[in-house]
Amino acid sequence: MKYDVIVIGGAFAGLTAAIYSSRQGMKTLVITKDIGGQGLLTNDIQNFPGFTSISGFDLASKFQEQALLYGTEFVYDEVTGVEDNNGLFTVKTREEAYEADALVLGFGKTPRDLGSPGEEKYKGRGVSYCSICDGPLYRNKDVMVAGAGDHALQAALYLATVASKVYVPQRGNRISGSEDMINDAKALPNIEFIYESEVSEIKGDKTVNSVVLKNKSGNTTEIPVRAVFVEMGYVAKTAMLKDFVNMNNEGEVLIDMNGATSHPGVFAAGDVTNIPYKQAIISAGQGSVAALSAINYIHRKRGKVAMKSDWKYIPTGKKEEKLKI
Ligand SMILES: Cc1cc2nc3c(=O)[nH]c(=O)nc-3n(C[C@H](O)[C@H](O)[C@H](O)COP(=O)(O)OP(=O)(O)OC[C@H]3O[C@@H](n4cnc5c(N)ncnc54)[C@H](O)[C@@H]3O)c2cc1C
Repeated sequence: MKYDVIVIGGAFAGLTAAIYSSRQGMKTLVITKDIGGQGLLTNDIQNFPGFTSISGFDLASKFQEQALLYGTEFVYDEVTGVEDNNGLFTVKTREEAYEADALVLGFGKTPRDLGSPGEEKYKGRGVSYCSICDGPLYRNKDVMVAGAGDHALQAALYLATVASKVYVPQRGNRISGSEDMINDAKALPNIEFIYESEVSEIKGDKTVNSVVLKNKSGNTTEIPVRAVFVEMGYVAKTAMLKDFVNMNNEGEVLIDMNGATSHPGVFAAGDVTNIPYKQAIISAGQGSVAALSAINYIHRKRGKVAMKSDWKYIPTGKKEEKLKI
């Protein structure tokens, strides 16, 4: 199926790009693994203008509603590769391939893998990357947090409210992270720090049932747990774009002030890019810039006059008729 614009990623950057693109009459497809991205990991966003407090899920749902209003189509799949065939882009997913005249990359950041044996096998079967989403599944069970710093401490503090015991291995002989969180965690009887140890293997049958820890001297201990929460921070998983767009050392897509990448017709926005201050509002703002630039790229290609801003007005009554969530 051929589109004017394909947006990869269905969170604040991608959904905003889709609102702008479809509202300007571009046939727009969003291909995404989920709606909300990293926003799904927080129940309380307090700094998005217009809302004193809103969950990431509710905020992203509102964005999607608005994109649907203007005719954006959605496919829930994982993009695995992108090709340029003389200016016509093919976006490959696990299931299908789609074509477009311009692309907006808004696929953000993804949790960093732990890299231990067993991690891949037990993903979704005891290995989790979202303590808030999956923690309640392990009520009154023993769990482990694999990671370091504030990400790991935040997860441990939350999990301690649902799990019976939370093990937190630390590579060194001290806890890494901010002092307040360390003190809070130390004060809880069901959080146990295990020093000079790291995860060497995740074991189980159908689901996780233990983790093997290796200490500095190479000795191993097997700890029975029902889940491992990996908290290693987030990375831009952009390997599929190697040699397609320029990136920095962290794998972030380099963009200019118009959201343009090094590849003509390919624009990017949000956490997947090298913009500073990774925040929902910034991703949204960048999403609009990338979409307007993509629209102008298509207009120029088709011999039309480029537009300066998004001024189109659609009467309200007509919009509601189109709403089809
Ligand atoms: C715990 C936590 C709390 C936060 N709190 C706040 C806050 O209070 N305020 C704030 O402003 N920001 C907050 N942030 C940051 C904010 O969530 C991010 O800056 C924002 O979500 C980035 O949006 P994005 O659209 O650029 O990318 P992401 O949110 O990373 O979304 C990427 C999207 O792309 C999709 N995707 C990824 N890879 C593929 C692929 N290969 N194929 C198809 N789809 C793909 C994902 O499924 C997702 O929909 C928080 C982040 C976290 C982790």
